[in-house]
Amino acid sequence: MTDQQLLYRAESDPDWNTVAAGTARVTLHPDESAPEVIVVSGPCPRCHHETVHAEPLITYANALDGSGLLARLLLRRATATGSRDVEVICACTATHPEAGERSGCGASWVLHVEWGV
Ligand SMILES: [Zn+2]
Ligand SMILES: [Zn+2]
Repeated sequence: MTDQQLLYRAESDPDWNTVAAGTARVTLHPDESAPEVIVVSGPCPRCHHETVHAEPLITYANALDGSGLLARLLLRRATATGSRDVEVICACTATHPEAGERSGCGASWVLHVEWGV
């Protein structure tokens, strides 16, 4: 089986979570003490192509909604020590048959990310 022949298929597999946990590279932006975005990169556990996923931790629309105390409290909570199960969807740049307008191979997996611990 060559990766190029892998058909696009929207699916997930618990095994991929395990594989991705060992191969994924996680970076926190702008820094680890107050992350606003989690960037997960690494090989897709299904097609093995490089893929990158960005997971926003703060919903700016909400944060900007009010400049009041509540908004600031929510913002602070979002940037404190925490963890997130990030759902990563393959977005590799390779062409998979039957993908149509979609990118990647259709695989999705979950990566558990912790920060500030
Ligand atoms: Zn791929
Ligand atoms: Zn893939």
